[in-house]
Order: sequence, then C-alpha cells, then structure tokens
Amino acid sequence: AKDQGGNRPCLYNEQMYRALTRRTQLEEEVREALNYDELSFALQPQIEILTGRLVGFEALLRWIHPQKGFVPPDEFIPLLENTESMLRIGYWGLRKAFEILQRLRAMGLMGCKIAVNLSAEQMLDSRLGPYLQELLAEFGPYAQWVELELTERTLVMDIDHCLGIMHQLREMGFSFSIDDFGTGYSSLSYLKKMPVEVIKIDRSFVAGMLENHADYQIVSSTIAMVHNLGMRVVAEGVENKDQLRCLNELDCEIGQGYYISRPIMESDLFSILSSKVKD
Ligand code: C2E
Ligand code: CA
Ligand code: CA
Ligand code: CA
Repeated sequence: AKDQGGNRPCLYNEQMYRALTRRTQLEEEVREALNYDELSFALQPQIEILTGRLVGFEALLRWIHPQKGFVPPDEFIPLLENTESMLRIGYWGLRKAFEILQRLRAMGLMGCKIAVNLSAEQMLDSRLGPYLQELLAEFGPYAQWVELELTERTLVMDIDHCLGIMHQLREMGFSFSIDDFGTGYSSLSYLKKMPVEVIKIDRSFVAGMLENHADYQIVSSTIAMVHNLGMRVVAEGVENKDQLRCLNELDCEIGQGYYISRPIMESDLFSILSSKVKD
C-alpha cells in the first residue's frame, strides 16, 4: 500500500520493518548458537503411572545465550517458523537424540524411549526421511526407541502429505505422538486416519482437572476415546500427587510433569545416572 499519511511516519511499515530485522537478527544468533555449542537438551522423564517405572524422556531444547542467558524455547522457536535455522536445529536435535540413546544404552538403560518434538517445517522437509535413514545406519537400530511428537498445527497444514510421511517413517520403525492434544484447530476425524501410538493431553487440562469440572470431563473422555481407538495416553504437566492418583484411576498410562521430575540437563542426567550405576 502507498504511504497516504503525507509526512506522517508510517507506523505500520516501521513495525513490520522492526519485526523483520528482529527476526533476521535472531536467525543470525541462532545460527551462531549452533556453531558455538550453546544448544543442548533437557530431558524430562516419563513414567508408567501404575508402576512408577521410567519409560522414557522428552527432549526439550535449551539455549543458553552468552549474554542473555537462558532463552526459553517458547520465545525463539515461534520466531523461527519457516526458516532454514529451524530445520538445522531440528536435524541437530534428531542427531542429539540418537547420541543420547546410545549413551543411555551404554549405561544399561535399555528400555527407555526418547520423544523428540518435530516442527511442521521439518515434518514436511524432503530431507527428513533420508536423514533418519543415515542416523539409523550410523547409530544402529534405534527407530523403535524414538517417538516423534507432532502438533495439530502440523497435521492440519497438509494432512495427506503428513500421512504419507508418517507411513514411510513407520516402515522404518519410528512411532508418532500428538502433542498438546485438545488445543489445536483440527477436528477429531483425522485421529482415525493417523498412524499414531500416543496422544499427549495438554497440560492446561491436567492443571485444571481437579478443580474444574469441564477440564476433568475433557481429560476423562479423551482418555476413554483414545483407548477405544487403540492408542495410549501421556498426561503432561502433572504437578501434584492428587493429579497423578486421579490420572491413575482414569487408566492413563504415562505421566510427565514437575511432580514426577523437572526436565534435567543432559550433562546432569548422565552424572546422576553414572553415580547410580557406581552405587
Ligand atoms: P511442549 O512440547 O508441550 O513441552 C512441554 C513443556 O512443558 C516444556 O516446556 C516443559 O518444561 C514444560 N513442563 C513439563 N512439566 C511441566 C509441569 O509440570 N508444569 C508446567 N507448568 N510445565 C511443565 P519448555 O521446555 O519451555 O518447552 C516449551 C515448548 O517449546 C515445548 O512445549 C515445545 O512446543 C517447544 N520445544 C521444546 N523443545 C523443542 C524442540 O526440540 N523442537 C521443537 N520444534 N519444539 C520444541
Ligand atoms: Ca512436546
Ligand atoms: Ca506438549
Ligand atoms: Ca505446550
């Protein structure tokens, strides 16, 4: 649009310009972050609720910037949507996940899965399949121990394309979960088409389930429906004993949240594990 304001500064364009430069700057910084080893994973344990047994970890991206310190993923990931940097971080993350699996196995933790968050752009990137194939060739047959977390945003972007990729990656042995279930825009109809093993109930519903009748109903009916479709449920954001007990009564299989464990920095996790092994 043309500047109609005479010599009045055009705020709209200025804001757009600032947003764009901020975005470019951030991309630049993230690119450097990758070079300077500022990225790592924190690993949050997932337990089988009935037995308390550790069944896996979700890998959560951590960026420690030399000046800014810890930058939460919610602050920089949305800014990187549709950028090459997001893809590079994604591939870095998948490789990292395989490295972690290898170390866990070397320490004798055989039955633990690792869940990795996959961005929409990565899911739809043509290099994903070949890259995963390379990782399998390099690290060994870990596919069944890697769970790929997709959000409803990704699924609605291009459902047929997504389905094709999901079938292809499942052939290779990988499994899928749907993250933040219940918060997206999609209808339930796609659920029956999706080759998905696990549904992760969003933590907002878990947070409210003991005080709020609607949240409780959403949690309990989601669990029942997911079971009827032959899938398993992970409850996110379990913050206290009462929520855990209630989820157990509702037959929810897996729990994740601060009450069970905070995310643990990769380096800390390995020192905890190696001291346990020595004991
Ligand atoms: P998410 O995938 O839903 O991850 C769960 C978030 O909930 C994590 O936040 C985790 O630290 C937090 N959380 C876990 N338990 C509790 C709890 O009991 N209470 C509360 N209040 N929060 C809990 P985090 O690590 O800040 O990550 C935020 C989001 O950033 C993630 O949400 C995910 O969407 C995105 N993200 C993180 N790592 C990656 C990654 O490697 N790739 C991509 N594409 N996205 C990522
Ligand atoms: Ca997730
Ligand atoms: Ca989630
Ligand atoms: Ca979330």
